[in-house]
Amino acid sequence: ARPIIAIVGRPNVGKSTIFNRIVGDRLAIVEDKPGVTRDRLYGSGEWLNREFSVIDTGGIEIDGDDTLLKSVRAQAELAIEEADVIIFMVDAKAGVTASDEEVAQLLFRSKKPIVLAVNKVDNLQRQDEIYEFYSLGIGEPIGISGSHGIGIGDLLEAASSHF
Ligand code: GDP
Ligand code: MG
Repeated sequence: ARPIIAIVGRPNVGKSTIFNRIVGDRLAIVEDKPGVTRDRLYGSGEWLNREFSVIDTGGIEIDGDDTLLKSVRAQAELAIEEADVIIFMVDAKAGVTASDEEVAQLLFRSKKPIVLAVNKVDNLQRQDEIYEFYSLGIGEPIGISGSHGIGIGDLLEAASSHF
């Protein structure tokens, strides 16, 4: 089977923007599981002739999740279960937040490889802003910009090195 990459992170960091960049129009048709809506959140991508599946976990709606934290947690747990590699996405403009630290704690407990993507690094001046994310303990942050299409190759290279 194809390897699965899951994109995890708190709302608004740019998960869907990156998902759309990677997948383009290669959306997959997925049957929703009872209690979980995930239509339009699965797609496929390719890097150096290697095909993989991608999940945008941010759009997964889980019935009964009333709080933001609970829903991010449930999404992350689903991703940990299904993925071969996790892209943990954070926001350079916002810096390290308490929610990022929460998600990092969850991901630590998985044995899955994690790639740390710092989004919204829209220009070279912002490149310095990625270093504070070492404090999450995930490893080397990769600066990317979903809206400008910067660093997507580096990100997929890092993710596919774990397939
Ligand atoms: P999600 O909630 O994590 O799926 O985030 P979205 O993909 O919906 O993006 C949230 C907001 O951030 C939107 O207003 C996007 O236009 C914006 N955004 C996404 N990527 C970038 C980026 O690379 N740079 C900047 N400046 N804004 C971005
Ligand atoms: Mg989204």
